Amino acid sequence: MSSKNKWVYLFDEVEQAEKYVGGDWEAVRGLLGGKGANLAEMTRLKVPVPPGLTLTTEACNAYLAAGENFPEGMWEQALEALKAVETAAGKKFGDSKNPLLVSCRSGGKFSMPGMMDTVLNIGLNDDTVKVMIKLTKDDRFVYDLYRRLVQMFGSVVMGIPDEPFEEIITEARVKAGVKSDAELTADDWKQVTKEFKKIFKKRTHKKFPTDPYDQLKLATEAVFKSWNGKRAVDYRNAAGIAHDLGTAVNIQTMIFGNMGDTSATGVAMTRNASTGENNIEGDYLMNAQGEDVVAGIRITNDVQEMKTELPKAYAEFEKICKKLEIHYREMQDVEFTVENGKLWMLQTRDGKRTAQAAVRIAADMVEEGLISKEEAVLRVSPEQIDFFLHPQFDLQSKQKAQSSGAFLANGLNVSPGAAVGIVAFDADRAEQWAKEQGKDVIMVRPETKPDDVHGMLAAEGILTSRGGRTSHAALVARQFGTPAVVGVASLEIDLANRRMQVGDHEIQEGDWISIDGTAGEVFLGKLETMVPDINDPWLLKLLSWADDFRRLGVWANADYPKDAERAREYGAQGIGLCRTEHMFFESERLPHVQKMIMTDLQRERDEALAAILPFQREDFMGIFKAMDGLPVIIRLIDPPLHEFLPNQFDLMHELSDLKIRLQQANNLAQVDDLLEQIRMKENILKRVESLHEANPMLGLRGVRLGIQIPELTTMQVRAIFEAACAVSKEGVDVHPEVMIPLTSHVNELKIQRQALESEAKKVMEEQGIEIDYKFGTMIEIPRAAITADEIAEYAQFISFGTNDLTQTTFGISRDDAEAGFLMEYISTGVLPDNPFATIDPNGVGELMRIAVTKGRGVNPALECGICGEHGGDPESILLCHELGLTYVSCSPFRVPIARLAAAHAALQGRITKDQ
Ligand code: PEP
Ligand code: MG
Repeated sequence: MSSKNKWVYLFDEVEQAEKYVGGDWEAVRGLLGGKGANLAEMTRLKVPVPPGLTLTTEACNAYLAAGENFPEGMWEQALEALKAVETAAGKKFGDSKNPLLVSCRSGGKFSMPGMMDTVLNIGLNDDTVKVMIKLTKDDRFVYDLYRRLVQMFGSVVMGIPDEPFEEIITEARVKAGVKSDAELTADDWKQVTKEFKKIFKKRTHKKFPTDPYDQLKLATEAVFKSWNGKRAVDYRNAAGIAHDLGTAVNIQTMIFGNMGDTSATGVAMTRNASTGENNIEGDYLMNAQGEDVVAGIRITNDVQEMKTELPKAYAEFEKICKKLEIHYREMQDVEFTVENGKLWMLQTRDGKRTAQAAVRIAADMVEEGLISKEEAVLRVSPEQIDFFLHPQFDLQSKQKAQSSGAFLANGLNVSPGAAVGIVAFDADRAEQWAKEQGKDVIMVRPETKPDDVHGMLAAEGILTSRGGRTSHAALVARQFGTPAVVGVASLEIDLANRRMQVGDHEIQEGDWISIDGTAGEVFLGKLETMVPDINDPWLLKLLSWADDFRRLGVWANADYPKDAERAREYGAQGIGLCRTEHMFFESERLPHVQKMIMTDLQRERDEALAAILPFQREDFMGIFKAMDGLPVIIRLIDPPLHEFLPNQFDLMHELSDLKIRLQQANNLAQVDDLLEQIRMKENILKRVESLHEANPMLGLRGVRLGIQIPELTTMQVRAIFEAACAVSKEGVDVHPEVMIPLTSHVNELKIQRQALESEAKKVMEEQGIEIDYKFGTMIEIPRAAITADEIAEYAQFISFGTNDLTQTTFGISRDDAEAGFLMEYISTGVLPDNPFATIDPNGVGELMRIAVTKGRGVNPALECGICGEHGGDPESILLCHELGLTYVSCSPFRVPIARLAAAHAALQGRITKDQ
C-alpha cells in the first residue's frame, strides 16, 4: 500500500468511505468500525455529533502487519484531519488559549469486550490545565478531568492496574474526612493527580507524557495493539469473529456534561424496551459525566424530566430520536450529553428489547410506514413468540435468586414457562394436593410413565432427574403446556424417604421450588412470575401478517377436545395427529382396555371393545366439533399392548407380598380372598410375560397390532364414523382422516384399508349419511419412505412421524440415548444437533425428500405433513417448507411459533444449515 492510501476519515467524510468500499454499508462498517460508521452516519444526518475522525481498520491491519509500525502517511493524515476537527470545534489541540481535548476509542466492526476501550480528556497537561481553569473558572472540574486522564491513560494504555489509583482516592477521602468523591475539593484532586503521576512513573519507569500529541499517538497505538491482546483474541474465538478484521480508532472532541447547571448527560431508548410503547425511555443526570449515569453511584432521573429541566435541549433530543429511528428504521439506544445547554449525540445503535417489545415495535413501525410487513415478520424470532404463551419468571427475582444461592441445577428445557410449587414425589399425591387442597405442586420423579399422567396434569410443573427431550415427561408436558425440566442429573431423588438432594441442598416433599422450563433451571423457594398475554393485539396483528406470507399449513397435535379448542384459538388449521391410545389410559377406560388385552375369549374381547367405543366416540365428537370445517387426522392405536398393563416387576412384588400375607392369614375367608387375588395377579403376570418383548419399539405395535387384532381397528373406525355422522347431523362440517401408524410395507396398508373401508361404509349406511374422509399412513420407517410410491397408491395422505423415523433411521432408541450417550455425542460434536429436536437434514430429511418426491410422483395431490415433535421446531419447519410439505403439525402451544417460523421460511427462501 502506498502513502496515497486514505487511512483517516473525518466524521463528515462518510461519502468518501462509501465510495471507497463500493457503496455497501456493511463494508463501511468494516472499514470505519461500527461506532465510527454510526458517528459518521449521524454527522451526515446533521445530528449534532462532536467533531472527530476515524483511523480505519485497514490502518490497524497495516500497523500490525508492519510489526507495529504506523503505515506510511497515516499519522500525517491523522494530524491533518485533526486540524479540520480543530476548525469545526473552534479550539486547538494543546493550545495555550482555547485547548481542544479529545477522546480516543476503539471500535471494530462488531462490538467487542476485551478490546482497549476509551481514554478521555487527551490533551491535558500542566499548561493546558491552567488555561482550562481560566476558561471554565472551575479548577475542581479541571483537576478532576486531569486525574481521570492520568488514571485512564495509565491503566488502559500502559496496563497499570486500577487498584493503586483507587487507593490514592480512598486515602484522599479519608484525609479530607469525606465519604464521596463529589465532596473532594480542587486541591484534593490536584494532589491526587500528582500522586497518580508518581504511580505512573513508578510502574512504567517513564514520566506521564505531557505532549498532547504523544498522548494521542500512544493511545492510538495502544488501541491497534489491543486487537491482538489475549482477551480480544479469546473473545473473537468464542464469538466466532474473524481475526483479520482489525479495529478502527475514533478520535473525537470531548464534550462535558459536568460543566454546571445547564449541562447533563444521559442514555435512552427511543421506545420503551420492555413494553415497546412509543415513548422515549431513559435516565440522565444534571452536571455529570457519562460514566456516572451507568455506574449507578448517583440516583438518575427519568429522561422525561429533562422536558422541564432543559426544555430546549430536550425538544431537540426528541426530534433527533425520531430522525434516527426514521433513518435506521429501528428503535435506537442512544447516548447524549448537554454541555452548557447545547445537545450532542455520542452514540446510536439498535436497542435491545424484550420479546413483547420486539413484537409491538415491529407492528407499530409497519403502521407508521417505517418498515414493510415482511420486515416486521422477519424481525421477530419464532422463539420470541414463546414468551407470550407461558408465565415467565420476573427477571429481577431470578437474578436475586441466583445471587442468593437459591439456584439448584440445570437440566433440559423441554417445555417452556415458569412454575412454582411444592414438591410432590408421586402422581397420586400431586393430584390430591392440587385438586383437593388447591396447592400448587411441582411433580418430581426420576422419570414419568403413562400411569403418572393424572398427577402431571394436576401439577404446575414437572421435574425429572432422568430422561431426554422426547421422554414421556417431556412429551406430556409439551402437550399440555406444563413447564418442565427433565434430565437433571445432579438431582438425587430418594423416593423411599421422600426427599431429594442437589449438592448440599436437601429438599423434603412439601418444600417450595421453582422451575424454569424456558431456560431449564431449578431454584429453591418461590420466585415471582408474570403472565404475558397471547391475545396481545400487536402479536395478533403480526401473526396475521405471517399467515399471509407462509405457504405451509400449520396444524396441531391434539388428543382431547379442549386441546383442539386451544389449537384453533392459536390459529391451527387442522388436527395433524390425534393419538387415540391416550384416551385408553383414563381410569374409567383402562379396566376395559386391560380386559380386552387379557382375555382369550372372543366374546369377552368384543364386550370390552364395545365398552370402550362410546368413550372414543364421545372424544371424537368433541374434537370434530372444535374443528368444524377443518381436517382432523385420527391415528389408530400405536403402542404395544403391554404398556396398558401393570409393570412386570411391580406385579412380581405384589405377588410375593400376597403370598407372605397368605402364610399369615387368620381365617378361611381371608385365605380364599388372598388366593383369588393371587390367581388374578398370576394371570396378569403371565400375560405381561407373554407380551414381553426384547425391543418393544420395534415389536408388535402400530399397524402390526391392528392386523393382529382386527377388532381393535374396527372398533376405532366405528367410533370415528359414528362420531362423524352424529356431529354431521348436528350441522358440523366434518373432515376425518384416518391414519395408520408404523407402516413398513404397502400390503399392511392394503389390509387395513379394506377393513376400514368396509366398517366405515357399514356405519355410514346405518346412519344414512355420507362422510367425506381420507385414508392415509404415517411414515415412521425408512422402508415406508423409500417405497412411498407404492404406498401412495393406497394412501391419500402421508404424515411423517419423525420421532420414530429418527429412531429407526439412526437405529437409536430415543429414551435410552437421550439419557445417555446422545448428549455426549452432541457435546463432543459427533452430532451437530439433537436429531430428536431438529430434523437431521441429510438422513431423515433426505428420506422425507424421497418419500415426498416418490409419493407425489404417483399421486400429485398427495397430502404430506409432519406430526413428530419436530413439527414445532423452527429449523425443522424451514426444512419442511423446502420439501414442499402441505403442513406441519405440533403441540397447540407451539402453533403461533410455527405460524411465524413458516412465514420466515417462506420469506427467507432457501437457507440450509450447512451455509
Ligand atoms: C412419531 O413417531 O413421530 C409420532 C408422531 O408418533 P409417536 O410419537 O406417537 O410415536
Ligand atoms: Mg411414532
